Amino acid sequence: MDALGWDSCDIILVTGDAYVDHPSFGMAVIGRMLESQGFRVGIIAQPDWQSAEPFKALGEPNLFFGITAGNMDSLINAYTADLRLRTDDAYTPGGMAGKRPDRAVIVYSQRCREAYYNTPIVIGGIEASLRRIAQYDYWSDKVRKSVLIDSNADILLYGNAERALVEVAHQLAAGHSISEMTRIRGTAILLDSVPEGWTEIDSTRIDWPSKIDAMPNPYEYKDPESQSCATDSSSEKDAAPVDPQAATPIRIIPMPLHRKSDLDKDRTYIRLPSYNKVKNDPALYAHASRVLHQESNPHNAKVLVQKHDTKEIWVNEPPIPLETDEMDGVFDLPYQRRPHPSYGDAKIPAYDMIKTSVNIMRGCFGGCTFCSITEHEGRIIQSRSEESILKEVEKIRDQVPGFTGTISDLGGPTANMYRLNCKSEKIQKNCRRLSCVYPTICQHLETDHKHTTQLYRKARMIPGIKRVAIASGLRYDLALRDPEYVEELVTHHVGGYLKIAPEHSEENTLSKMMKPSISSYDDFKEMFDKFSKKAGKVQYLIPYFIAAHPGTENSDMLSLGLWLKKNKFKPDQVQTFYPSPMALATAMYHSGRNPLKKVTYKSEKVSIVRQIEQRRIQKAFLRYHDEKNWPLLRQALKDMGREDMIGDGPHQLVPAEKKSARHGTPPRRPGGKPAAGRSAGKFDSRKARNRP
Ligand code: SF4
Repeated sequence: MDALGWDSCDIILVTGDAYVDHPSFGMAVIGRMLESQGFRVGIIAQPDWQSAEPFKALGEPNLFFGITAGNMDSLINAYTADLRLRTDDAYTPGGMAGKRPDRAVIVYSQRCREAYYNTPIVIGGIEASLRRIAQYDYWSDKVRKSVLIDSNADILLYGNAERALVEVAHQLAAGHSISEMTRIRGTAILLDSVPEGWTEIDSTRIDWPSKIDAMPNPYEYKDPESQSCATDSSSEKDAAPVDPQAATPIRIIPMPLHRKSDLDKDRTYIRLPSYNKVKNDPALYAHASRVLHQESNPHNAKVLVQKHDTKEIWVNEPPIPLETDEMDGVFDLPYQRRPHPSYGDAKIPAYDMIKTSVNIMRGCFGGCTFCSITEHEGRIIQSRSEESILKEVEKIRDQVPGFTGTISDLGGPTANMYRLNCKSEKIQKNCRRLSCVYPTICQHLETDHKHTTQLYRKARMIPGIKRVAIASGLRYDLALRDPEYVEELVTHHVGGYLKIAPEHSEENTLSKMMKPSISSYDDFKEMFDKFSKKAGKVQYLIPYFIAAHPGTENSDMLSLGLWLKKNKFKPDQVQTFYPSPMALATAMYHSGRNPLKKVTYKSEKVSIVRQIEQRRIQKAFLRYHDEKNWPLLRQALKDMGREDMIGDGPHQLVPAEKKSARHGTPPRRPGGKPAAGRSAGKFDSRKARNRP
């Protein structure tokens, strides 16, 4: 601060990540954006959270503290899908774990409050964003309150928050109080009561009777006598003039009737079931999750309200996506493109991974239920201009120390959604589909990849660029619509292997994931092989799969294991489902119901694998070739009544137990107890022991 000649900061940002001045790191984007608006921004990265002192390092900010856990949710960062503590942290110098607290947004907010009680606190980033309403928390196995309550922050910004943050900063700088900022898109706030004059769509229940009469307005007094002469025009003439200052009551409409009602969209909110209700009723939780996802299109979403004890969480409509020139503005800010010099030579793994890659877009219209990108970045694709992207490639070439000529990725949440959007703005504004590509690719979706193809070609032509790899996930069902793109990709941008993510082979699971059928994979493989051959290259697809996803039975995993074996895949890295906050699949996991369809108490039940041992069994099917898994799989197959799958035949999954092995340790049953009486041997092993 002294070097800059500042006596104080206007805004102090606190983050759980190391500070890397690069547009792939949220804190750098936010800091540079605020700086470009004329604010003096200080950043406290990975402070020691044991006391408030480190949060006073830059003094009291003139406007507010901005708090984020970092690029990842702090609990996903710290624990594996099986709830084991991770030993590393990709966002910390040296990859060291333990530099941020669990539930970092809450902890940092509390420390900032302790440091300077009256300073406004603004929370944002992925952790706050995905915890904006009551949410199932996998780590404590319970539904938690909105993070706004637990953090005691003043306002929560969700999604990509440039617009909202700049608005909050300018309003505070203009002398407004943070409590006045009640209607900024992309924010959630805490209210004592909902404002008057609004219409409430009551979506707090799922057991409405089949026929509902319009709800009478409790504030409306109808005098039976005056009603009888309601057609008398004199009564209108004599009516008292409307007082515009008078309080207007809230009008309440039951959810099933809202389509029949004439609503002012800008003065209508949806009331979700309260925290206390969703906490105790998983079906209502699934319903609330469904409503939240349906209200995600910024062009037609309504305000959501959820009661938390005596307070109301008021979630304003989602942010309007950035236009291309605004995206360029964000990415063209003067990033140094390297970690803060105070880290010296310590490597920050996440930075090493992305330092030569370029983010070309935001958003995803895939809607995979296990992923939270759509909940955070939205379904509408926000793309940078070709010029801005190519300029960044040149900057990497010129500024990144040790650049070897390879751009490691031109991508984003997916590889191939750049500049693809709904063909009709009008249709898009009315759309409430959760995915543009599931169950089928929407007829209104632009699927011509020409902009991406051109971009690849131009990037390759830049002097000093030897190779451009594509590492972001390919939505291959979409790519199939544009063979020219696939040929370009396969010929120039695949270095022998292309990772893709069918995630499963069985419809039972794929339908809960909102992923395309495995036949799309087969079609893509055919195209991939054809173009690889044409290019004179021997290349392979590396498919990724998830075990234990909601809806997956052991029989589905067996089918997937057999599919892998038939296709000669022996996956090394496999995943089990990780219930991340706010994802639709997490709502399935918690409730055992399917929020992709209307939720009722009688609606479809989804099979869920919760116990660690059961999750391990499902994971073992993906690594059927690993000898260590064979005892577990044999036992699981026996329990499923599928002993026919044990043997050395090409259609069997695991080899039979060798006779000599039967005298060893008996296999563990799923419950963890030895399988007594099965392979424990036919003799008394105690006789083999030495006598004391
Ligand atoms: S109409 Fe189709 S392409 Fe357009 S936003 Fe909706 S699902 Fe996507």
